[in-house]
Amino acid sequence: MTIEENKELKDLTTFRIGGPARFFVRVTSGQELTDALDFAREKNLPLFILGGGSNILVSDEGFSGLVIKIEIGGIEIKDVPEDSTIQEVIVGAGVVWDELVGYVVEKNLYGLENLSYIPGTVGAAPVQNIGAYGTEARETIAWVETVNGATGEIKVFTNAECQFAYRDSFFKKTEGKNYVVTRVAFHLKKQGIVNTSYKDLAEYIKSNNLTDVDLGMVRDMVVAIRKHKLPDVKEVGTAGSFFKNPIISRELSAHLHQEFPLLPEYEVDAERVKVSAAWMLDNLCGMKGHVDGAVAIHERQALVIVNKNNATAQEIKNLAQKMINCVKEKTSITLEQEVLYI
Ligand SMILES: Cc1cc2nc3c(=O)[nH]c(=O)nc-3n(C[C@H](O)[C@H](O)[C@H](O)COP(=O)(O)OP(=O)(O)OC[C@H]3O[C@@H](n4cnc5c(N)ncnc54)[C@H](O)[C@@H]3O)c2cc1C
Repeated sequence: MTIEENKELKDLTTFRIGGPARFFVRVTSGQELTDALDFAREKNLPLFILGGGSNILVSDEGFSGLVIKIEIGGIEIKDVPEDSTIQEVIVGAGVVWDELVGYVVEKNLYGLENLSYIPGTVGAAPVQNIGAYGTEARETIAWVETVNGATGEIKVFTNAECQFAYRDSFFKKTEGKNYVVTRVAFHLKKQGIVNTSYKDLAEYIKSNNLTDVDLGMVRDMVVAIRKHKLPDVKEVGTAGSFFKNPIISRELSAHLHQEFPLLPEYEVDAERVKVSAAWMLDNLCGMKGHVDGAVAIHERQALVIVNKNNATAQEIKNLAQKMINCVKEKTSITLEQEVLYI
C-alpha cells in the first residue's frame, strides 16, 4: 500500500475536473483499508472514500485530507439454504458495477439487468441506491458489509438498516457517513420475469418488433438506449444527472399542472409524486444544449452538465445555480443535487 502525496484527482473522476488530494491511497483488501484508516486517524485527516468518481465534483482547490480509493475485488456466488429460487452474489466494493451486471446476466441471474451500463463501483451502489429503467439497487441488496472509518469496527447492515429511499440511504446521512462499504451481497432470482414496463424500454421493444424478450436482450436494450441518450464518459466529462427528480406534494403538483399540463409525474405514495427535473429544465427553462463558456448542458438530456473544455468546478457550480434559479422561479421547486461536491 503506497500513500501518495498531492495526487491529481481529475482523471479519477468522470467530470475530469478538480485539484489534488493532500494524501491518496488505493486499497485492495480489508487489511489495507484498516491501515489507511489508521494513517488518517494518526494524522487527524479528513477522509473521502472514492469509487469510480462518477457522481462527484472535486473543487478546484482539491481535498486537504486522505482520499481512499476502494479497489476491493471479488465476486462469489452462493446458494441460499432457506430459498432455492435465489442465489446470493457477494461482491467486493471495488468491482466495476457494469462488470457485475454483465457477469450475473451471463449466469442467467435476474434483478440487475435494468441497471446495466451505470458507471461507477459496486460500493457506491447502496450509498446512492442507484436506479434506472424502473429498478433500484435496493430491490436486490441483501446486506452491506462496512468498516466504520472512525473506529475501525466491521458492521453488516441488513437491507432495512440501509434505510433506502430514492437516490438515498443511511450512508448519505450525517450518522452514516463514517461507514466505508467493503462488500455488498445481492439476492438474485434463478428464474424471473424481465421488467420492460418502463416507457423507453416498452417503446424500444415496439419499434424494433422484438418478441420473447429475455434477460440478455434487456441488458442489450438498456445499453443501446443509454448509449444513445447519454454522453460516453470516455469522451465527455460529466457526472450524469446533476439533479434528482423533485418529490413534491400532490397539492403542489395539481397546482403546477394547471399551468404546465404536460409536466411528467410518477407515483411515490398517497401524499407525494415525483416530477421530471429534465422536463422542467428543457421545457420551462429551454436549457437543453445551452452552452456557457467551457460548460454546457447535454443536447439530448437537460439534466446532464458537461465539461466541454477544461472547465473549472466553479464554472460547473455557476451553471448548476442558474438551473436551480430558473426552476425555482418558474415552479417554486428547489432542485436538489445528485452530484456530490468535494
Ligand atoms: C453518464 C452517467 C450516467 C449515470 N447514470 C446513472 C443512473 O442511471 N442511475 C444512477 O443512480 N446513477 C447514475 N449515475 C451516477 C453514478 O454512476 C452513480 O451514482 C454511481 O453509483 C457512482 O459510483 P462511483 O463508484 O463512481 O462513486 P463515486 O462518484 O466515487 O462516489 C459517490 C459517493 O459514494 C461514496 N462511495 C463510493 N464508494 C464508496 C464505498 N465503497 N463506501 C462508502 N462510500 C462510498 C463516495 O464517498 C461518494 O459520496 C450516472 C453517472 C454518469 C457519469
